[in-house]
Formats: sequence, structure tokens, C-alpha cells
Amino acid sequence: MNYQSTRNHMHTATASEAILKGIAPDGGLYMLPDPGALSFPMDRLENMTSLDISMEALSLLLPDFSASEIRAIVEDSYRGKFETGDLTPLVKVGDRFILELFRGPTSAFKDVALSVLPRLIAAAQKKNGVKEDILILAATSGDTGKAALAGFCDVPGTRIVVFYPYGGVSAIQQAQMVTQPGGNVSVCAIRGNFDDAQSGVKAIFTSPHAAKALAGKAVLSSANSINIGRLAPQVMYYFKAYGDLLRKNEIGPGEAVDFVVPTGNFGNILAGYLAKRMGLPAGRFLCASNANNVLTDFLLTGVYDRNRPFHQTVSPSMDILVSSNLERLVYLAAGCDGKAVAAYMQSLAQTGRYALEGQAKAAVQADFEAGFADDGQTKKAIRRVYEDHGYLMDTHTAVAWDVADRFPLQNKTVVLSTASPYKFCAAVLSALGEEAGEDEFAQMERLNRITGVPVPGNLAVIRSLPTLHRDVIDRAEMEGYVLAKAGGFQ
Ligand SMILES: *Cc1c(COP(=O)(O)O)cnc(C)c1O
Repeated sequence: MNYQSTRNHMHTATASEAILKGIAPDGGLYMLPDPGALSFPMDRLENMTSLDISMEALSLLLPDFSASEIRAIVEDSYRGKFETGDLTPLVKVGDRFILELFRGPTSAFKDVALSVLPRLIAAAQKKNGVKEDILILAATSGDTGKAALAGFCDVPGTRIVVFYPYGGVSAIQQAQMVTQPGGNVSVCAIRGNFDDAQSGVKAIFTSPHAAKALAGKAVLSSANSINIGRLAPQVMYYFKAYGDLLRKNEIGPGEAVDFVVPTGNFGNILAGYLAKRMGLPAGRFLCASNANNVLTDFLLTGVYDRNRPFHQTVSPSMDILVSSNLERLVYLAAGCDGKAVAAYMQSLAQTGRYALEGQAKAAVQADFEAGFADDGQTKKAIRRVYEDHGYLMDTHTAVAWDVADRFPLQNKTVVLSTASPYKFCAAVLSALGEEAGEDEFAQMERLNRITGVPVPGNLAVIRSLPTLHRDVIDRAEMEGYVLAKAGGFQ
């Protein structure tokens, strides 16, 4: 099965081509028209390790990579790189389960995918006989940036440029990025929010001027979840959580499990939906948003409307009004009708709004529920869970927890935890009723002293690292910035 552009089924690509391109030439996203045709071997799940599950899921989703290629990529990506051998531990908290996705090299759930993506890209480059270097562009709401920088740092034949919203990420997230060493990395702040950074990056992908300037020198690709090579590795942990529940006798074979997902760009939760289509007995997916609740409204009413104030919240990695991956869900819900999707996206670009109706709306609502938590509710949830269960959550996880508290879910429930609390010390301290103070490293120490939860080594070390990146530009300057950086290839 080949990938197709969500906006035109004539634009097809093999999995490796889709990974190299990142985005289709018409601005659509590459997607499989029928993920339900893929069948994960559920009968073997209980006996599979996290690495086994990852290999199985990637082999199904990326069929033009051989089993031995996938094996080498997965082992190289994960072995010894995460805090725990099972990559994503499942922890019981009260009567729910928290799936800790943040035990990777940069303490973000994005590590699960961005540990793999550079190796997928390198293999795809070889497979497709691409001689040019690969120039990776990434817009980040805080966590993709560092995880991508860590993944691509000094990978031969690649260069990476990361854009983040100036003042729109946490102090620790910014410190993680601006201290990133490596001969092939650039980090630049944008005067604007994440949506500006993301739309700026997407515009470069489809810019004829950029294409001409880069011809013969570099091929652009994306480290954002618009790249299917980012999405495919995330499918693993949904199966992994289910396998853990089976092994712990918390559920019986085939029993439905609900997943609560703190959501921004809709990549994480879409990976869960793919897992369901591939055979995972998932019940409902509860899409949890912060005050930027455009997805809550969409899933409840079918109307996507980004014409609303943008809020800076204590969960900055979810401060997003245009959720890219939703396009893939809409494509499946609309029966893979590229023309319809193209019309929705055109309407979104021109009016900031589109509306699903009839079957498409019903198809979306069949699997997804939605709710949101504002900053006050988020902080209260952090305190409540810490006091009741001794478990310390980050702000994004707390959004999901709080939404789950207010939602009647019938099945065993897994809440996905997407970041370490130490990335958002000021908000977490304040949630616990403590004064935060100015210095983010003093905050880290303080949070550690109060809770006894260990500080991840990768975050503790930042304090001693020099700042290497200081660029701040306007959105309109992004293309020029990228082309100047690509000059390094000549
Ligand atoms: C990126 C991110 C999210 C949102 O994930 P999406 O795949 O964009 O929906 C949630 N929490 C944290 C901490 C993140 O970094």
C-alpha cells in the first residue's frame, strides 16, 4: 500500500519517499488510505518487548523498509538511550494508568519518534539514491525542537534548522535548545506564536523560490509530525501499554481500554487511532486541550474555527490553534476524498474555518471525545494528584488528567504523560503552593527538594552549558534564514 496526499490521491509515495519529502507537493500530508488493512499480531503482544512492538508496527506502516533494516534502525535508536529498557513505563496512579512517554534523552514524548526519524531518513536517502544533503526544518512548541536537535546532531548528510516562538516556550525548553551543540544545527526564535512558526515552515516547503535555490544542493524534509516518519514510531506505545495491562491481569484479551491524550498538533492521539485501526482494542480517545480549545469544539460540533484569541498557557507545547495532523483524520473520515479535504483546508486558510457534516462528522465522533482544562484547573490537578497519590505530573499531563476527571469513561483508562515536570518548574511549583522565584535552575532544585522526584540528568546538566544560539527574526524572514543556512552545503 502506498501513501497518498490527503488532498489528491494522484500524489502517491512509498513510505520512504514520504519520509524524505515530509509533506506532499500540494501541501497535503502523506497518509495510508486504509490503515485498517494492516493487522498487528495481537495474539503475540503479551510476549513482545517494546523494541519488538516498535519493529512490528514500523514494518507494517513502512512496507518498503526490510525487516532487517527496521531491526537495525530500532535497536540503534533505542538501546541504552532511554531511562528504562521498556522505553515507556506504565504506572498505576489511583484507578488509572499513566503511560510515561518522557523517559528519553530530552525528557519529552517526542523522543520516542525523534530517536528513530534521523535513522529512517538516512535509510530512505540511501534507498532512493538521493545524493543531496537533507535539510530538516522544524517548528516547535517547545519539545520537538530539542528532541529533533538531539536526534540529528552531527548526523552525516543532514542539517537541521529549528524555529521556536519567542517567549512562547518554557525557560527550560528554551535553555535546552539554545545550548545545543553540533556542526549541523541552527536554532532561531520567531517573533510570533507556534502557528506562525509552523505555517512559515510549511510555506518554505511549497515555495518555488526555495526549491530553485536549493536544487541540486539540499532536499528539504520535516521533523514535525506532518512527516509520517514522525508519526509511525509513536504507534508503538499504545500497543505497549495494552500489553502491560494484559501482563498485569488488569484486563482480559480483547477488553477495551480508553486513552486520554494531551493534544496540540494531533500527532500523538492520531498515532493511537492508527493503532486502533491496526487491531488494538481501544475504546474512546479523549482529546484533552488547554484554553486553546479549538479541537474540543471541533470534535463536539464538527466545526473547526481558529478565529479566536490565542492563549499562552502553562502547557505551552499545546498552545496551538492549527492542528496539522487533524487533516489526516479528516481525510479518513471523509472517505479519502482528496478534493473534499483540499476544500476544507482552503477554507481554513482563507476564512480560518471549516465544517464537517453528515458521515464525515459522525466518523470523527465515533472514536473521539474531547474536553479542556484551563490553567487554574491544570494546576489544581497537579496538586490533587500529588497530595492524593504522591505522583508528580507535568502541566500537559495534568490537562489530560483533569479532563479525564470530568469525563465518564467506562473502561480501564490510560493517561498519556508527555513531559517531565522538571521542564515546567515554575508552574508546577506554583501548583504545589510554593513560590517559584526567578532562576529556573534554582526552581529545579527546589522542586527536587520538596518532592524527592529525581531531576533527569539531561535537564540538570543544562545549567553548565554555554548559550550557542541567539537569533531572533520575523516570520517573513524565515525562508531567507533557511536559504542562508543551506549555504553551508555549497
Ligand atoms: C508536543 C507535545 C504535546 C502535543 O502533542 P501533539 O502530538 O502535538 O498533539 C503535548 N505535550 C507535550 C509536553 C508536548 O511536547
